[in-house]
Amino acid sequence: MAGEPQADCLFCKIAAGDIPATIVRETDTTVAFRDINPQAPTHVLVIPKVHYADAAALAVGDPQAAVDVLREAGEVAAAEKTVDRGYRIVFNTGAGAGQTVFHAHAHVLGGRGLEWPPG
Ligand code: C5P
Repeated sequence: MAGEPQADCLFCKIAAGDIPATIVRETDTTVAFRDINPQAPTHVLVIPKVHYADAAALAVGDPQAAVDVLREAGEVAAAEKTVDRGYRIVFNTGAGAGQTVFHAHAHVLGGRGLEWPPG
């Protein structure tokens, strides 16, 4: 059922503590951890603990959790001291856009210059 943990979902397992991750923040509804393949000096993923395949589905199915993810993305950026220089919150949505893990997640990228448009 939408929102319920999925047995085959990597990020559900990280949220449950069943797979290790370098966690930087955790709330009742979210977990933030360092990306294992960082693309910038700060590259943290913020996930909701509930399972939805992508950010748009999360916003429809659990709007409060979607807000929580965005708020935590900002908290991560502040804690990493990337706010003054600017940072980017990215939700890759769909395989064609580079999404590889189908559990909603925000990439928080900062600590270097970020080009626009992104690749
Ligand atoms: O947007 P996308 O779905 O491609 O993002 C998934 C991200 O999850 C990747 O940046 C990948 O490096 C990261 N990842 C991770 N820890 C894992 C598996 C994937 O940080 N165990």
